[in-house]
Amino acid sequence: MKYDKQPLYYGGQRHTTATTFQDIDPSTNQPLADICKADQHAVHAAITAAQAAFPVWSTMTTMERSRILLRAVALLRQRNDELAVVETHDTGKPFSETSAVDVVTGADVLEYYANLVASGGLNGETTQLRPDAWLYTTKAPLGVCAGIGAWNYPIQIALWKSAPCLAAGNCMVYKPSEFTPLHALRLAEIYSEAGVPPGVFNVVQGDGAVGGLLTSHPAIAKVSFTGQVSTGCKVAAAAASNMKYVTMELGGKSPCIILPDAELDNAVDGAMMANFFSTGQVCTNGTRVFVPQSMLRSFEQRLLQKMADIRPGDLMDPNTNFGPLVSKTHHDKVTKYIQHGIETDKAKLLAGGLGKPTLPATVDANGYWVKPTVFTNCTDDMLITKDEIFGPVLCILPYADNRPGYVEKLVQRANNTTMGLAAGVFTKNIDLGHRVVAQLHAGITWVNTWGESPAEMPVGGWKMSGLGVENGRKGLDNWVQNKSTLVEMGGAVATSFSKL
Ligand code: NAD
Repeated sequence: MKYDKQPLYYGGQRHTTATTFQDIDPSTNQPLADICKADQHAVHAAITAAQAAFPVWSTMTTMERSRILLRAVALLRQRNDELAVVETHDTGKPFSETSAVDVVTGADVLEYYANLVASGGLNGETTQLRPDAWLYTTKAPLGVCAGIGAWNYPIQIALWKSAPCLAAGNCMVYKPSEFTPLHALRLAEIYSEAGVPPGVFNVVQGDGAVGGLLTSHPAIAKVSFTGQVSTGCKVAAAAASNMKYVTMELGGKSPCIILPDAELDNAVDGAMMANFFSTGQVCTNGTRVFVPQSMLRSFEQRLLQKMADIRPGDLMDPNTNFGPLVSKTHHDKVTKYIQHGIETDKAKLLAGGLGKPTLPATVDANGYWVKPTVFTNCTDDMLITKDEIFGPVLCILPYADNRPGYVEKLVQRANNTTMGLAAGVFTKNIDLGHRVVAQLHAGITWVNTWGESPAEMPVGGWKMSGLGVENGRKGLDNWVQNKSTLVEMGGAVATSFSKL
């Protein structure tokens, strides 16, 4: 499969550039498309187009903006499978997943925000201070915002950023990850077809250097970033130079806590979901799975049985539920962690390990495959239990559940990380479940489930895992600035001067 050369998109038009870079198909290690790379001039032109569009877009009524965005939702849903195929080629994720999740969850968020702003979501508050004085707040859009995406959920990330941004009346210049650029032009043209005016949503392509041009540009009011903690620190530092707003959606090393009374199948399903969905390339993965000693053997056995249902294969086959990793760089990184777990951490390898999984003969073995891997008897000091691996590597950390105070100790261990993106607990004791969740230092938590992140749910990390939230009502507040106005109707200015 080869796609046409992908242009940039700004001011409602495609723009080609002389410099290009290659997009590689992770399932074949073959070129997928040449992508036009933005230079300083192109980034500036995209920002200028967004500035020109802002006065019109930001002053439309919320009902008008909503109507246009809902047309984009309908187009996304009509073209779900076509877009999902593109995402499968670009990311290496099976079509069974991209067609059911990636576009769907992106379109849901756009629909949510289009409806929210049309039904008063941007309203402020009124407070009667005294009989003749009151104050009101209004919410104003920020201006031209930058969206910088990661490669694991390309179109979903683009929509989770652009939906609230545009619904609130801002304009966006969006840069996808250089590893997964294909969705961006398609989304931009869907917005245009729906009636989004030229310049409201713009696309520039390229690597971190192009991201840097956006984060350092004085006309950008906000940067919404998704990526690694280390990159997030650089982006936040660059954004601080002229006090840009930032939202940071960063990495994690999340604890998945199985309590002794948990329902075994439910707990194992949760741990599988928290480690092998999307070949483990999910930011909220619960890679530290705490299992009570009393359940360890049965948990391991059931996990191995269920892992027989992981089916690597032809990515377009509806039966396939496990794909290769996104890039050679990432494949090499994950492989090194597996090797480190075996050779240096000396964790017990329960499943998987180095090498490729067994693939059907029809599948190209040059893809960036790794085996779904489980280490058990892990300890907190191992590198594999400390670093974000971002691949299908599940670490079981057994804990003694026969001593008083073991739950408190468990919570301490779970919180003993610089990151705080997600956490979850499996138990039939609902009081205990809530008590444990209340003590976990993480922005996204689950009880007896893992991974679901609907449009209504604000998501964002604590500690080094991020700043601000995406989605839900709170997510919209991250795209507006507040104005407070105090009105005095009594003809008196309340100052001490009047008493002199
Ligand atoms: P990354 O940090 O390498 O890159 C992310 C984006 O930043 C890319 O578009 C890249 O080109 C750009 N970039 C790189 N250097 C930059 C710079 N100096 N200035 C501006 N932009 C720059 O991350 P990745 O490898 O693409 O994504 C994987 C990471 O993303 C994982 O850590 C994962 O946990 C995280 N992630 C978090 C969430 C969340 O919601 N919290 C969601 C998805 C992924």
